[in-house]
Amino acid sequence: MQNCLKHPVFKIISEIALQEDLEVYVIGGFVRDALLKRKSKDIDIVVVGNGIDLANKVAVKTGKDTLVTVFKNFGTAMLKYKDYEIEFVGARKESYRRDSRKPIVENGSLKDDQERRDFTINALAISLGKEFGSIVDPFGGTADLKSKILRTPMDPDKTFSDDPLRMMRGIRFATQLGFEIDENTFESICRNKDRIGIISKERIIDEINKILLSPTPSVGFKLLDQSGLLELIFPELVKLKGTETINNKSHKDNFLHSLKVLDNICEKTDSLWLRWAALLHDIAKPQTKKYFPQQGWTFHGHEFLGAKMVPDIFRALKLPQNDKMKYVQKLVLLHLRPIVLSQEVVTDSAVRRLLFDAGDDIDDLMMLCDADITSGNPEKVRRFSQNFELVRQKLKELEEKDAIRNFQPPISGDEIMRIFSLSPGREIGILKTTLKDAILDGIIENNYDQAYALLLKKAEEMGLNIESAPKSLLPPRSGLNITQINP
Ligand code: ATP
Ligand code: MG
Repeated sequence: MQNCLKHPVFKIISEIALQEDLEVYVIGGFVRDALLKRKSKDIDIVVVGNGIDLANKVAVKTGKDTLVTVFKNFGTAMLKYKDYEIEFVGARKESYRRDSRKPIVENGSLKDDQERRDFTINALAISLGKEFGSIVDPFGGTADLKSKILRTPMDPDKTFSDDPLRMMRGIRFATQLGFEIDENTFESICRNKDRIGIISKERIIDEINKILLSPTPSVGFKLLDQSGLLELIFPELVKLKGTETINNKSHKDNFLHSLKVLDNICEKTDSLWLRWAALLHDIAKPQTKKYFPQQGWTFHGHEFLGAKMVPDIFRALKLPQNDKMKYVQKLVLLHLRPIVLSQEVVTDSAVRRLLFDAGDDIDDLMMLCDADITSGNPEKVRRFSQNFELVRQKLKELEEKDAIRNFQPPISGDEIMRIFSLSPGREIGILKTTLKDAILDGIIENNYDQAYALLLKKAEEMGLNIESAPKSLLPPRSGLNITQINP
């Protein structure tokens, strides 16, 4: 087991442990990840005694550049050394009150410290003192690692009730590592689900985000659902569940569909926010569902309502209210557009409008739409994918020609005001929209001359005074005022 102890800090700790006759161990996530051959940059050191003292002694040996941060209240110290964050703590025993996940702490043995950990695979310790490198595994953690099982070291009802965040962590580890949750342990999660109420939203969303960043996040969301936790922490997702049949016509289960789309997109991107967009793209389907005898099931406007729901969902889950949220909102809003396009004759105008609305997020939107094709009918999938390819080609052609993606109107509102000596008002808006629409519809090209000619024509139609406007204009250069170039 000495392979994972190559970092120089282990040698230093070991020397101190032998000199001072201390029981010192590396413990928890680092040991688990080392045995699973996963990379980790956090090392947790536990000493039967005083963690802060040990950290200070280690820092003396690692040299001047090592930074030790002491958290007196917690009795811990953190040391940054050679790319790693190394945390030192004295072995502890914990007891809990019912209303808080913050334990009452007292000094304890290594075994006490291992018992307070959430899963057997997280309770493994490796000795750094005598018998350097030997594993201390009182709860069968190595066997569970081998058989890929998550199990609590103690009675699961006590483990989960003491700190209900552990239920979320368990489901997250199952998703991240591809492990099964032991039956007894899972039943206990189901029994203790309501205890999640004492956990802060911030902690919960951290775990949900880790589930979303896993290779196959559907695993986690299904477990959250089966345990009853999902209903408590993210009820909007649970509403997507189920199918309904009228006159032999059924709609698909939108919970399972959303999870499939999410898994699909995870094969293509690591972006957390694109993954969020995949999870939420159909979130408003339950509210917009209608049955018509002719058409069957419809979900008209679910993209609009879905986009509207995004800020509330983000607020409720304590996700950021910033440009990431706006990005998710935009993708939810636009997620049908490429599909609708691919079902119709693909006109240049429609593709330009899509490019204009999606801007730089067009590639992400196309990725979302690709992931959204989950039909079980191979013929349908083939047809969709083919039309999609056509949309992609057109997007590329038009972007090269017209540069719509970062559309800047060739004549700005300020210039329009100067040209016609107008003050801010309705007319400016009408003229700007006329130019934008004409470019997106391909009536004029995205250049200054054609835009100016159209501007004059439209202004005349509107009865504006075009006498004082120059007959033609040079495109403005930075720092120059148009009226000075061509008074
Ligand atoms: P990750 O770093 O991926 O979040 P981890 O298991 O390493 O996973 P850390 O928060 O780094 O989690 O914690 C390190 C160790 O501390 C864990 O492996 C576990 O032994 C213990 N631990 C962390 N949180 C809890 C908890 N809520 N209940 C019990 N033990 C915990
Ligand atoms: Mg860790």
